[in-house]
Amino acid sequence: MLKTTTIVVGAGHCGLAMSRCLAAQSIDHAVLERGEVAHTWRTQRWDSLKLLTPNWMTRLPGYTYRGDDPDGYLTASETVQLIADYAKDTAAPVRANTTVTSVRPVERGYLVQTDQDTWHARAVVSATGASAVARVPALQHGVPAGITTLTPTTYRNPSELTEGGVLIVGASASGLQLAEEVHRSGRPVTLAVGEHVRMPRTYRGKDILWWMDATGLLDEHYDQIPDLVRARTLPSMQLVGSPERKTVNLNSLRRIGVRLVGRLAGIRDGVAQFSGSLANVSSLADLKLGRLLDTIDTWATKAGLEGLDPPQRFAPTDIPVPPKLALDLRSGEIQTIIWATGFRPDLSWLQAPIFDLKGRINHDGGVTASPGLYLMGMPFMRRRKSTLIDGAAADAADLTDHLMRNLDGR
Ligand SMILES: Cc1cc2nc3c(=O)[nH]c(=O)nc-3n(C[C@H](O)[C@H](O)[C@H](O)COP(=O)(O)OP(=O)(O)OC[C@H]3O[C@@H](n4cnc5c(N)ncnc54)[C@H](O)[C@@H]3O)c2cc1C
Repeated sequence: MLKTTTIVVGAGHCGLAMSRCLAAQSIDHAVLERGEVAHTWRTQRWDSLKLLTPNWMTRLPGYTYRGDDPDGYLTASETVQLIADYAKDTAAPVRANTTVTSVRPVERGYLVQTDQDTWHARAVVSATGASAVARVPALQHGVPAGITTLTPTTYRNPSELTEGGVLIVGASASGLQLAEEVHRSGRPVTLAVGEHVRMPRTYRGKDILWWMDATGLLDEHYDQIPDLVRARTLPSMQLVGSPERKTVNLNSLRRIGVRLVGRLAGIRDGVAQFSGSLANVSSLADLKLGRLLDTIDTWATKAGLEGLDPPQRFAPTDIPVPPKLALDLRSGEIQTIIWATGFRPDLSWLQAPIFDLKGRINHDGGVTASPGLYLMGMPFMRRRKSTLIDGAAADAADLTDHLMRNLDGR
């Protein structure tokens, strides 16, 4: 049996950030990765994807963006390169092509079973990603035979789709990007819109994420949030990275001809039924955007920032009246459905008493109830930005402190 102090499971940016922090404290560890470094970015992203965070936000422990386009957005393959370079620069002790099949508590630590070896470690950090698996609603079972179904992890580009209509379910970052791309390929797109977080790409001349970073919104701490459960399940921001820094939202999609409908509420006898809530969820998103811009304007005035464009308010979301409430999926109009309904982690290999009755993992800022067992990269884990690349540095530093205290205590 192999021994080490800490096993980190997963060599995405979170696992590598953790590794860098452990190394800085001389904590002996190994990073076990089922594929290659940045496996998710290599295998689960569509071809045209660009990060929605600007390049200057690709900050990791001991690394800041050094290129000549700080306001640009990396492609998926450039993101792979960045993470692979980071692994090399930090000399992370990654064991590639090693799948962790189980982790269970044993005396003085954890037994980590892989498809290669067995390890004993005093601590384990799971960095296997909050977006490991595309979440697909149970109503998928009502989809008539003959319709192809995809998710953002299996979709690559429009040329792989059958000709004909496409129903995209979900209007957050992934759904919006795919709706625009598929529509531009000449296929009629229907977009089912539930709760969403509307964002302009730029505001008063600066990237909206610049504002969220500068005002401290992205750094908001999990223990300052009144409704953490809700904060952890909020949809992703409607943002797209593009050289023109364009805003893609429901209005821009509607203008190019995407058909907007309400949330997909059910499929009965092959007929998709859409909720009548489209107007409400859109007004709510408009209202929340207005509040965010108020916060930004107040902060900008207090900070005395100069040379900014004047404050602006955006046109309300223009929705079809009345929106379509039903669509017969047997008519042949829809050939493909893309479930852009979010993602979830896959922690099925963790055999520790840290799950609730619904199978959700319990943790306090990434610290689980099983001493020495930690999580990285979970939604709003310690900060609003915990799932972003930019969130890993602070979270990994905090967890390394906790892990060290835990080792000392034992
Ligand atoms: C479509 C999409 C777009 C995104 N865009 C952005 C963006 O623009 N900017 C941004 O900051 N964030 C973005 N994110 C969020 C986040 O940065 C990514 O999800 C990122 O991949 C998460 O990093 P991670 O290290 O937590 O997990 P991952 O990158 O998923 O890495 C987990 C690693 O664990 C490995 N693994 C899993 N199970 C096992 C096992 N049992 N044994 C061994 N290894 C295992 C996987 O192979 C993988 O390499 C995006 C997410 C998605 C889904």
